[in-house]
Amino acid sequence: MNIILLGPPGAGKGTQAGFLVAERGMVQLSTGDMLRAAKTSGTEMGKKVAAVMDRGELVTDEIVIGLIEEQLAGGEGSGSGFIFDGFPRTLAQADALAVLLEKVGQKLDTVIEMRVDDSALVKRITGRFTCGGCGTGYHEEFKKPVKDGVCDKCGGSDFKKRADDNEESLKTRLMAYYKETSPLIGYYYAKDQLQSIDGLGTMEAVASDITKALSKVS
Ligand code: ADP
Ligand code: ADP
Ligand code: ZN
Repeated sequence: MNIILLGPPGAGKGTQAGFLVAERGMVQLSTGDMLRAAKTSGTEMGKKVAAVMDRGELVTDEIVIGLIEEQLAGGEGSGSGFIFDGFPRTLAQADALAVLLEKVGQKLDTVIEMRVDDSALVKRITGRFTCGGCGTGYHEEFKKPVKDGVCDKCGGSDFKKRADDNEESLKTRLMAYYKETSPLIGYYYAKDQLQSIDGLGTMEAVASDITKALSKVS
């Protein structure tokens, strides 16, 4: 099953994708993670996108479509399918995804829109941090490590905050979401592929709503 998790920055896409990977063995394709990896490793593309990402603007369609194409063409497709997390973010990307999936003989099964109030997003984003060792996501208020300062998963103590997780960049990211990405809600609704869920509940409640949404299409 191939799905898109659609929602504004901080909606909980990465968190829920992580659950689906752990529980169902699905493959998470996060263009944000791929771009940050390119930024950290200092590739030409990484250098090109660094400032754009830090400001909270979208990188070009060409770059992100290329990243997704590489992953799909790599034949890593697991039997359990792909979770597109943070992609597509524009109509051009959505059209390109349909073409790329068809090329590898796959289809999109459903799009799950995670609805979260803007005021909650600010809290989610400004409190977000991750383990530098294993990438596990945390939140200063909603998901602290069990033992203060120590990662639950790998025992590491090197935590990181994203350069773009500040209020100013978040405003730009929200604007990009409403201008460029939110039209995808109507686009997938018209294709009969959209399911909307309440992203404001606890992580477990949201996970359970996603399970229900997936059971409708599998
Ligand atoms: P969030 O957690 O806020 O949803 P991501 O980690 O998905 O953010 O993305 C971080 C940044 O990477 C975005 O603000 C944007 O600059 C860039 N980016 C990620 N995915 C895309 C995409 N599909 N199209 C354009 N830019 C993207
Ligand atoms: P996205 O990938 O959509 O940008 P994340 O999954 O990274 O969002 O979540 C943003 C922040 O909010 C993280 O710090 C995460 O721990 C926290 N978070 C995610 N889902 C919930 C939830 N249902 N309730 C409270 N906090 C959440
Ligand atoms: Zn860790």
